[in-house]
Amino acid sequence: MKLSKISLILFTVVLFNKVTAQHESTYTKGNLSISFINEDPDLKTGTEDKFINTVFKVYPKLLKKFNSSALKDITIKIDTAYTGVAYCSGGSITVSAAWLKKKPTDIDLITHEVMHIIQAYPNEGGPVWLSEGVADYVRYKFGVDNEEAGWSLPDFNASQHYTNSYRVTARFLVWVSDHYNKKLVYILDDQMRTKTYTENSWNDLTGKSVDELWQEYSSNPKI
Ligand SMILES: [Zn+2]
Repeated sequence: MKLSKISLILFTVVLFNKVTAQHESTYTKGNLSISFINEDPDLKTGTEDKFINTVFKVYPKLLKKFNSSALKDITIKIDTAYTGVAYCSGGSITVSAAWLKKKPTDIDLITHEVMHIIQAYPNEGGPVWLSEGVADYVRYKFGVDNEEAGWSLPDFNASQHYTNSYRVTARFLVWVSDHYNKKLVYILDDQMRTKTYTENSWNDLTGKSVDELWQEYSSNPKI
């Protein structure tokens, strides 16, 4: 009886240590500050540096090109309990430790996530498919090493639709930008932040509706 009680206490202490075992560092460059919290003692060596270097390289460009008022304090947490890939809330990005174990070269997922900080869209600023498409457009244009991650825009196929989000939408944005308006994504982004985006934005910026553009893209999807 006595022994099992001691065992239970020991077990609790070990578990407690495992849950709270984390390391935190803060990096500052110019007006940008990044706090990095790592819960995973087995995180591959060099991963933290790669994330930090990527954010310092990409984020100032995004501030300049999209939204200079965006937050300058960013937190990145490597989470051992989260089962998705990564998500962003306010200025905090959570990345799954399990995902990084599976895809250790997927450093530019952080490029997608920091774009959500830049976006800072208010509720109902724009449709989710478009905000996710813009974030992957940014990863495609500004990513530091998408090639190493084996990340690219997928080829067009007839089952796709512009509302598919992420890379499918990003590829469409590349095509519309190249064919109609180089500033398209920058203007759509600004409109979603200022709640001035409507479906008619596509007509204003290209002379065609989004459905007409998709139709045209479908028949000649080369980028
Ligand atoms: Zn996203």
